[in-house]
Amino acid sequence: MQTIFELMSFNFELSVNQKIELPNTHKVELYIKREDNIHQFISGNKYRKLKYNLQEAQQLGFDTLLTFGGAYSNHIAAVAAAGKTYGIKTIGVIRGEELIDKIDTNPTLQFAQSQGMQFKFVTRSAYRDKENEGFLNTLKEEFGNFYLVPEGGTNQLAVKGCEEILQPEDDTFDYICCAVGTGGTISGLINASKPHQKILGFPALKGDFLSINISKFVTKDNWELITDYHSGGYAKVNKALIDFINQFKHQYSIPLDPVYTGKLMLGVIKMIEANYFKNNTKILVIHTGGLQGISGMNKRLKAKELPLINE
Ligand SMILES: *Cc1c(COP(=O)(O)O)cnc(C)c1O
Repeated sequence: MQTIFELMSFNFELSVNQKIELPNTHKVELYIKREDNIHQFISGNKYRKLKYNLQEAQQLGFDTLLTFGGAYSNHIAAVAAAGKTYGIKTIGVIRGEELIDKIDTNPTLQFAQSQGMQFKFVTRSAYRDKENEGFLNTLKEEFGNFYLVPEGGTNQLAVKGCEEILQPEDDTFDYICCAVGTGGTISGLINASKPHQKILGFPALKGDFLSINISKFVTKDNWELITDYHSGGYAKVNKALIDFINQFKHQYSIPLDPVYTGKLMLGVIKMIEANYFKNNTKILVIHTGGLQGISGMNKRLKAKELPLINE
């Protein structure tokens, strides 16, 4: 029997390490791993995190995946696209009851719906309790049996998939930098890293639960969270961040997303400018994708009369 992923067409050859030419005054080497190129919608780390979960669901005979997310979630978009491509039913439990009338104005939900995802909109307080057995049982009564993929897709199988991001040729890097949401991606990078390497995680949100989450999945201690670059919190943006994303795309032709990779790259470049890294350090930044979120963010920016991200 062919597994789901043998049937999938992904552009792994496009996930290359691209050099970022810095001004001569900076004596470090900076590269970006283009995981955003793997797939238009199941991009970057969301592919890595789904890979073994989809295989497990298939092996256990499930025909439905259920997962959770916010209205602009890259994970929701990725699960919906994976379901459509491989003929698996998908159910998205979405935070915010009011969104039920707003599907048509939300690009992520609209996309997920076009891929056949069925939604259940819940209040923020119900969403907080989403892992409770009682709530899961009501979902099973409503939708039948399903394979549960956690919020953001992070579990042991997701971490296993993220361990495949680093390749043998990446051993020459001294630092590996990535954005952090739930901590699954950085956990895989830590597990796959070599002892001489240091993994720096840039949380996209405030909160100190992340270290605890990561510690559940890793045994090494060659990592650190850099908490200064979340720009005010999850999905919070300001003009400096938007200007940076637009300027970076103009200069290097590499798009960054406003929730994760833009904040990450801004942080890394600020740290380079502040001489955080020694001369001749080789730094690899992981582009985890997330570009589907740009048009949704632009709608919000337009409403606030802020500058837009160039699409
Ligand atoms: C989901 C996501 C992350 C966060 O990954 P975690 O494994 O949850 O830490 C980072 N970057 C992008 C683009 C994402 O979509």
